[in-house]
Amino acid sequence: MPSFEYPANFIRFLGTAGTRFIMLSQRRSSGGIWFSYGGARGVIDPGPGSLVRICEARPSLSLYDINTIILTHRHIDHSSDVNALAEGMILKSRAPRGFILATRDALEDGDRVIMRYLLPGIAVTAIHEDGKFTSPIGGVTIESVRHSHNGVECYGCVFRADGLPSWGVISDTAPMPGFPSRYGACELLIVNTALMFPRANEGHMSLPDVESLLARTVPAVAAVTHMGADMLDKGAEYISRRFSARATKMIAAEDGMILTLENPITILKPERVRQSFQEK
Ligand SMILES: [Zn+2]
Ligand SMILES: [Zn+2]
Repeated sequence: MPSFEYPANFIRFLGTAGTRFIMLSQRRSSGGIWFSYGGARGVIDPGPGSLVRICEARPSLSLYDINTIILTHRHIDHSSDVNALAEGMILKSRAPRGFILATRDALEDGDRVIMRYLLPGIAVTAIHEDGKFTSPIGGVTIESVRHSHNGVECYGCVFRADGLPSWGVISDTAPMPGFPSRYGACELLIVNTALMFPRANEGHMSLPDVESLLARTVPAVAAVTHMGADMLDKGAEYISRRFSARATKMIAAEDGMILTLENPITILKPERVRQSFQEK
């Protein structure tokens, strides 16, 4: 029998690709983040390949069990598989089921990415507003944090549940002065970090931006994801050189990596998960 089982509360990186080039080559997958937290189960930003990564995951992940889908914004690397996942979420239920949290331009505009025909099957849809708390399931709350990203509506999220570590996702965005306070309570911080070095008007975080953020807020674990080519080539080395002695455990995410959302937050590398899954 496989010895590895998912904990009750965890995230699994279905993909860690950032920038169009990495997404289009699939040098890294672009599937978003699977999470299970306080009874909420779902995916954040299901980009191209999300459905495939879910179906291929070992140990298996059941799309039919998800009850939450979150889009931080409607760019295609974050949203292309949202309709397929929504079909999975509602397929086995006769009554409307599940929760979708997305931006207004993803849900309602003429150029929306979530198909209208699916909406009657969804129990609750909610639209991000800065500082708004939504509560999809039980005691889980999600706080939306407005971002600044290349002319589209974009929001990050802070997740809280009683007795569990709080965690946050900083999606695609230029660095913003309010981040240290908005994300200050997160014990795990996941940051989309497309760039090795800051570039003006790029609408993305760079590693030095993350470094200055972590000088002002100290999560137990910080994971960079959504990485561009330079980040994939040189990011891990930079992180081990610059962050090894800090209070925050800093990592570059990998496709298939698991982080437990229990105290303490534990990092499970994909090869370790594969190994323990195969052990008799
Ligand atoms: Zn984007
Ligand atoms: Zn993106």
